[in-house]
Amino acid sequence: MQRTEIEWVREPDGRRGFSWNPVTGCKMGCTYCYARDIALLYTGTFEPEYHPDRLMEPSQRRKSSTIFLCSMSDLWGLWVPEHWQLLVMGAVIANPQHRFLMCTKSPEVLLAWLLRFPTHKLPDNLAVGVTIDYHKHEHRISLLRCIPASMRFISFEPALDLGTKIMDLKGIDWIIAGPLNKRGRCATTESHWWDQYITICHSLLLSQPLFIKNTAPMHQERPQQFPAWMGIKEVPHG
Ligand code: SF4
Repeated sequence: MQRTEIEWVREPDGRRGFSWNPVTGCKMGCTYCYARDIALLYTGTFEPEYHPDRLMEPSQRRKSSTIFLCSMSDLWGLWVPEHWQLLVMGAVIANPQHRFLMCTKSPEVLLAWLLRFPTHKLPDNLAVGVTIDYHKHEHRISLLRCIPASMRFISFEPALDLGTKIMDLKGIDWIIAGPLNKRGRCATTESHWWDQYITICHSLLLSQPLFIKNTAPMHQERPQQFPAWMGIKEVPHG
């Protein structure tokens, strides 16, 4: 577990939060995957792998922290063995002192897991998000709404093609958005980013906080959280 550069993973006092990767590797094959680039550089593989030695890391930190779960994989990918998911979720439940954030591109797998085992419950200290990069994946929002999480968020990052249709964001507590990012720089053209940004803004409900990555054109040196007075909605605490 280590401090993360991911901008939206923050402690309530604004300091950087942590990433925790008891599972690494992914078979989703997203062309823009930064995790694959890093993994191939340092380990030479991006095959899914469970790391039992990392399972206890959250419990070794007593101080309440914000932790992004599985930044180097997708815990709910179809290829992930169920006992890995059980072990990781067990560790989240065992650490109510922390606030966990978890993002997936396969909310249907998490939903099926919850429906199949009525005893499987999501703890209150876990925020669940889905990533939406193309408008064809908008159905993930409805699936997320069905997941009984104490906080739900959407990551429109990278916002590659969200179309122009207003999206139904009811029941979603927090929105994150950013362009395609290459080595800390925006790889999306400015006009393309603004098309995505306008679709997101049209879809927002008045009460929803929006966090914009600082790689987005025109957002450097400007507030990242809109409305600014709202601050980042606090990640739930069990
Ligand atoms: S789902 Fe996430 S971890 Fe998996 S390939 Fe796509 S970007 Fe990478």
